[in-house]
Amino acid sequence: MNAITEKISLSTDVDMANFWMPFTGNKQFKAAPRILKSAKGMYFTTADDQKVLDASAGLWCVNAGHCRDEITEAVHKQMMELDYAPPFQMGHPLAFEAAKKIAEVMPAGLDRIFFANSGSEAVDTALKMALAYHRARGEGQRTRLIGRERGYSGVGFGGISVGGILANRKAYSGALIPGVDHISHTHNLAEMAYSKGQPAWGAHLADDLERLCALHDPSTIAAVIVEPVAGSTGVLVPPQGYLQRLREICTKHGILLIFDEVITGFGRLGKATASELFGVTPDLLTMAKAMNNAAIPMSGVAASRHVHDAIVNGSAGGAIEFFHGYTYSSHPTAAAACLATQEIYRKEGLFARAAGLAPKFEKEIHALRGEPFVKDIRNLGLMGAVELQSRDGAPGARAYDVFLKCMEKGVLARFTGDIMAFSPPLIVSEGQIEEIFATVKKALHEVA
Ligand code: PMP
Repeated sequence: MNAITEKISLSTDVDMANFWMPFTGNKQFKAAPRILKSAKGMYFTTADDQKVLDASAGLWCVNAGHCRDEITEAVHKQMMELDYAPPFQMGHPLAFEAAKKIAEVMPAGLDRIFFANSGSEAVDTALKMALAYHRARGEGQRTRLIGRERGYSGVGFGGISVGGILANRKAYSGALIPGVDHISHTHNLAEMAYSKGQPAWGAHLADDLERLCALHDPSTIAAVIVEPVAGSTGVLVPPQGYLQRLREICTKHGILLIFDEVITGFGRLGKATASELFGVTPDLLTMAKAMNNAAIPMSGVAASRHVHDAIVNGSAGGAIEFFHGYTYSSHPTAAAACLATQEIYRKEGLFARAAGLAPKFEKEIHALRGEPFVKDIRNLGLMGAVELQSRDGAPGARAYDVFLKCMEKGVLARFTGDIMAFSPPLIVSEGQIEEIFATVKKALHEVA
């Protein structure tokens, strides 16, 4: 299926009166609606039957490709058998099986899996676990949480508080959770422009955590949360040695380290987790998206044994030890989709496949250097970004134009501000990788 449709009609006849779209310029969307009606493998089909190559795996989540029969069948079977089971004080077999399968691919020791339904919930769960852990150990004064500038940790109050995106926080700034601070982000254009993979410069940026330890007293800090590779703010790849250094500082001060692997988990970087790729083990790891190929909302937190045991053993026998959970935690259909997805990853070796394709992806994305507006290019695994020069006085407008041009030419990419981001499903072919970046090149020239 190589055919790229030349022209995509942006029109549709859906009634737009009622649906308030999330993270969308609703007025802008109404002027140029883009409706997707079906998908298979690497392609979406739009409302007017145009095929669009999915260069972003939906929202970094459909790693096994769209509408996989194995997942559809597993979900259907589960719906017929057990549509719902209360997850509090009760269980169903698939929840335990899914936790086991997930634990098998998590870093050693992170084998206690708590289920939620979105990345945002996973983050808030992990933050609460960190606080519960310290309190259970008699260190209830450790309540400070540290996030990172340009971090995205979802949209719950915990997530936007530790998150580092101004636009996500601004309207709610009076009600963010107290006692939160941020270390500096890891991007420095002067030192790392056009880095391939991990930049050599910048391990010392982790020392910014020592600044906050000196400021607040480390015995008041509960946890630090970072995305190993910041995704939504434009694929900011950690400098070599940075995450190791962050781990050392956390360990030294008794601070828990949380990796938000909502994007990086399940093969995006060529391994099950970024933790495995970088050889750095956090205390808590959040996951969502590709854990069940985004078929049914599902997320989770993998907790290390010491965090889990401290919380569970910290309460009297029979009592609920962690006052937290969701009506849909470990939902039977989500668990069924999760098991089917994990089996696809295993059987088809998709994580290793992504690792094998990474050099081709790197070559093709970096071939855009020197094209109109291109200011920086970054990549790791099957994750990449092309940062564009902003149009004067209109941040984001350039990338939006390029995004629309790509869409018109049959390629769906993402954009955030003036950064184009790419993260195709792990089933992408070498030819499709070429097609994606050839299309972006054409789009840049046409916009220019
Ligand atoms: N953490 C990270 C790193 C993410 O990228 C995202 C979503 N892109 C989230 C959390 C939030 O996930 P959700 O949208 O499922 O709440």
